[in-house]
Amino acid sequence: MENRDSGKFYNEVRGALDEVRYLMTMDAVVYQGPHDVAIEEVDEPEIEHENDVIIDITTTCICGSDLHMYEGRTAADPGIVFGHENMGTVTEVGDAVTTLEEGDRIVLPFNVACGFCRNCENGYTGFCTNVNPGFAGGAYGYVAMGPYKGGQAEKLRVPFADFNALKLPEGDAHEDSFALLADIFPTGWHGTRLANLQPGESIAIYGAGPVGLMAAYSAKIQGASEIYVVDRVESRLEMAEDHCDAHAINFEEGDPVEQIVDAHGDEVDKGVDAVGYQAIDPETDPGDDAYDPARENPAVVLNQLIETVRPTGQLGIPGLYVPSDPGAPDEMAAQGRLGIDFGKLFEKGLKLGTGQCNVKEYNRELRDMIIEGRADPSWVVSHRVGLERAPEMYEKFDEREEGVTKVLLEP
Ligand SMILES: [Zn+2]
Ligand SMILES: [Zn+2]
Repeated sequence: MENRDSGKFYNEVRGALDEVRYLMTMDAVVYQGPHDVAIEEVDEPEIEHENDVIIDITTTCICGSDLHMYEGRTAADPGIVFGHENMGTVTEVGDAVTTLEEGDRIVLPFNVACGFCRNCENGYTGFCTNVNPGFAGGAYGYVAMGPYKGGQAEKLRVPFADFNALKLPEGDAHEDSFALLADIFPTGWHGTRLANLQPGESIAIYGAGPVGLMAAYSAKIQGASEIYVVDRVESRLEMAEDHCDAHAINFEEGDPVEQIVDAHGDEVDKGVDAVGYQAIDPETDPGDDAYDPARENPAVVLNQLIETVRPTGQLGIPGLYVPSDPGAPDEMAAQGRLGIDFGKLFEKGLKLGTGQCNVKEYNRELRDMIIEGRADPSWVVSHRVGLERAPEMYEKFDEREEGVTKVLLEP
């Protein structure tokens, strides 16, 4: 009798809790379909495993790789909460978490990683084999990167929190710079490491989006002798000149390979592809829409790099390439098959490194450079706006509007 009553009581409490939970919703940036995101009410995240924490997002960023989904150029289905570049304050802590407590200020690598698979053990946290079965690598808020919700929202669940969180000093100092530790600063740095840049070497970086600019900035910090940055957006090229001491190369004004070789007097030592598969072919006519998919040639930057870099040099390719592209210019590219000048690559004995960044490989040291004033990548941030302005900022960023380089959202 007593047991039955307590069971009934339990069920009533549970029912009431479910109701409260139902009411616990928050604002989030939700993908609706090509070129359309909206602020929607979604369920607040909960602790699902005892090594999770929940954070209140203080800053989350819009990324160039979000645009691939935004433009309908991935298999992303409507309903995804975007946002893989996240930082915030811990508000709930799972029972098994040992290194974090409520109130801690943390930034998360965009990679979700377990910490104990073979790849994680070897430092390749971008290729964790546990967090996203059937695929190497997981991320928040990204198609095919596992079940993890994005952080362009008020709150976020962080799995394997002890492993994934990077603690930051208390307060709100360096908020913009620290937010960039989630992806673009480490990813730009990774581009130069994939190219094995050495002090005193010359380097060409294709793409002056946020990652390309961070690669140029990393090359400057690492002591490159000459840095060339290729793009078509003047305001971005100016940032490369002003903050990275780079030579700006506008590919709409002539063949970028010729421009670089002319200016440098020879091919350069190293190269970085910070463009990826949605690359614009400079041979095509800009017409009314500079980013018309009809202008794309997914192999063009790789082939330009093969021409730009000297024999036995090395290419770093953090720019995104995909195994399937629903909007590809041709059938081969739709399956991720590109017309690369492999014969030329072989003839020159070029080495190359590919793949997404293992953020944990660099984020601690880059954080400390920020704290000590050795690095301040916040110059790349053009906008810090409320979450509710995300739809408008996605549109402007997608247009590569002059002056819109890196958008930070503040829920
Ligand atoms: Zn990103
Ligand atoms: Zn792992």
